[in-house]
Amino acid sequence: MLKKLLSLVALTILLLPAKAQTSFNANNRFEQLESTLPTPNSYRTASGSPGKDYWQQRADYDIKVELDDINRKIIGSEMITYYNNSPDDLPYLWIQLDQNLFEKNAPGKTTKTGEIKNGISAGAFQELTDPKDYGYKITAVKDAKGNPLRHTINQTMMRIDLPTPLKSGASVSFGIDWNYLITEYYGRSGYEILGKENIANYFIAHWFPRLAVYNDVYGWQHKQFMGQGEFTLNFGNYKVAITAPNDIVVGAGGELLNPNQVMTATQLKRWEQAKTATRPVEIVTQDEAIKAEKSVPTGKKTWVFKADNVRDFAFTASRKFIWDAMQVDVEGKKVWAMSYYSKEGNPLWGKYSTMVVAHTLRSYSKRTVAYPYPVAISCHATAGGGMEYPMISFNGGRPEADGTYTENVKNGMIGVIIHEVGHNFFPMIINSDERQWSWMDEGLNTFCQYLAEQEWDRNFPARRGEPQTIVPYMRLDSKNQVPIMANSENIMDFGNNAYAKPATALNILRETVMGRELFDYAFKEYARRWAFKQPYPADFFRTLEDASGVDLDWFWRGWFYGTEPVNQSIETVEWFGIDTQDPTVKKAGDKALAEAKAKTMSAIRNKTDIKRTVVEENPDLTDFYNTYDRFAPTEADKKKYQDYMASLNEDEKKLVTEGKNFYVVNFKNKGGLPMPVIVKLSYEDGTDEVLRFPAEVWRLNDVTAKKIIPTSKKVVKWTLDPFYEIADIDTEDNSFPREPAQPTKVQLFKMQGRTYSGGPNPMQEAKNAKEKSGAVTGSKNN
Ligand SMILES: [Zn+2]
Repeated sequence: MLKKLLSLVALTILLLPAKAQTSFNANNRFEQLESTLPTPNSYRTASGSPGKDYWQQRADYDIKVELDDINRKIIGSEMITYYNNSPDDLPYLWIQLDQNLFEKNAPGKTTKTGEIKNGISAGAFQELTDPKDYGYKITAVKDAKGNPLRHTINQTMMRIDLPTPLKSGASVSFGIDWNYLITEYYGRSGYEILGKENIANYFIAHWFPRLAVYNDVYGWQHKQFMGQGEFTLNFGNYKVAITAPNDIVVGAGGELLNPNQVMTATQLKRWEQAKTATRPVEIVTQDEAIKAEKSVPTGKKTWVFKADNVRDFAFTASRKFIWDAMQVDVEGKKVWAMSYYSKEGNPLWGKYSTMVVAHTLRSYSKRTVAYPYPVAISCHATAGGGMEYPMISFNGGRPEADGTYTENVKNGMIGVIIHEVGHNFFPMIINSDERQWSWMDEGLNTFCQYLAEQEWDRNFPARRGEPQTIVPYMRLDSKNQVPIMANSENIMDFGNNAYAKPATALNILRETVMGRELFDYAFKEYARRWAFKQPYPADFFRTLEDASGVDLDWFWRGWFYGTEPVNQSIETVEWFGIDTQDPTVKKAGDKALAEAKAKTMSAIRNKTDIKRTVVEENPDLTDFYNTYDRFAPTEADKKKYQDYMASLNEDEKKLVTEGKNFYVVNFKNKGGLPMPVIVKLSYEDGTDEVLRFPAEVWRLNDVTAKKIIPTSKKVVKWTLDPFYEIADIDTEDNSFPREPAQPTKVQLFKMQGRTYSGGPNPMQEAKNAKEKSGAVTGSKNN
């Protein structure tokens, strides 16, 4: 860094705003989104809230279903009442037949591409070769009197033609009977066989024909179910009677209406205790569950549930289940937090699951709306992953057979339970259109999950949310990326695009762009406005701006509609001081400089080589200029300085004399995505200071932004993004002067030792070591 002297006059000129440069096309990044977003109307306003004419359809279900455990089959019959709240008359209704995803010719199968590299997974092999006749067998579609209704099945959708159009404001009741073979658990539903006993744990979802959504945005939303894009659903009231073998425990996303008929006296007593407990109470204990594994049913039992104002209904069932529960206070309301899990889930599940459910309800309620339902359930399904339905979720996280587990398995389980229980808010209450927009539930939910994880345990190793964790994805070539604003089925790299990137973007909005207070208020306002309604992206974008007063169009444009990364650098730093114009000071400086410059190599050597010069030999050859000090201030210089100082007012005088530094820092936006510039100034005396400039510093020139930064102290180092908050994909150019490059470390030896699924398992090592030391003293223990 070089300190230059600058006159005050020159400084004044530099402080004038720079002219817009037409060569950079910069305004595109800061253009308003109005040409991209849908035109506001009386259903959805320009402020992002539901409009005065907002409407949505409603569907109520009365379902009787039997779980056939021998044939692993669902046999159901339902009566649906559909309320047409739209302004339109409807000649036909569309019904979702999600189980047809598993039919041989389902669009999810026929459009899937694939190749075989180093083998084929068992799951993929089974999907390609399983000869079972999956999919819905629709045995009746009938009106309220039992007369058949004309219907046409188009893959995963069915159109029912009404004898007369359903008038705006009217309702219609009709019935459907069906059955289907349950598939093996595929990530969203199915059965899982656990243990030697060949017992199935059932996780039953998208198991009944249900109404597609008709709304003001798409008309009928009947985009086929391909497997990736989830569900678009109506709210309604459910009554569901589930009949199963009488040794099976059933849990469901609703309130149990007949506990006295399905629970034993002992279980009912424990249920009472659980109402005031501070730790989960086992309604069915592990010992009882293990005994039940060997039982044979002696008949059937019917469990009756109701669920009001939900968008879906799912249930779980198994004779292997341990069931624990406790009632917790969520924003002044009592809610049942419960878990169902087989012994394979312990000791993790008994210790954590229900406690995590309770924490999630409280954390999310605080940020969105108070949890409105009476129950929230976490079920243990498969080793990994998770899936959500109203009031009930199916979650992974399984210890080793010896009861030990890795840290990754523990934290993964806690994270997935927070995530899936968190889905009760997005999309089960704030009912976004999942078939179209995955980020609206996954992204918002993953963001809230990140916040809840930090409240669960300090420094919880969250996978997603911190800006640094999205950097490898943001570095990908743009041909391997699609914007967040891509239809669910067209998303590449689903986890990063639909979960991590939007979650990171929201975290950046909260911490860096808007600040916690403005963000939290606006985010809660979005939840409040759209609870029990169906928001679309524009409603979210508009509400966050409307409630915070922050123009975020550039942010939505860059993060949600674009694929460019953030990559800022500090290119140069220029250092200026004020020229006081004091001739004493100025000429002393000039003199020092001239003297330094006179010390050339020739001059140094001549000092000894030339013994005596001619003038030194002959002093009479000197004159005025041999003693003249050309750096001494003249009377004219002094007068000019006095006149200059006299022309300044007190503030100007202070500025000239206090010796401020002025740095011109040249920031570069190499990545494209404009972001706030955050820079740390490290001073000579060891102290530091952080300056923040909003993203709008790039509004006139989206490549280069120079800032004049005055300081009293001398800056020895500049650091961009010192808290890793903007997801900068290249941090090597973030300091000035540049940090010496770090060598890329190479390993000399291959990794030694065992690896476990999910990483090292120190818990198991400790257990084995303990057992080994026992063996030394005589006992044999495997
Ligand atoms: Zn999710």
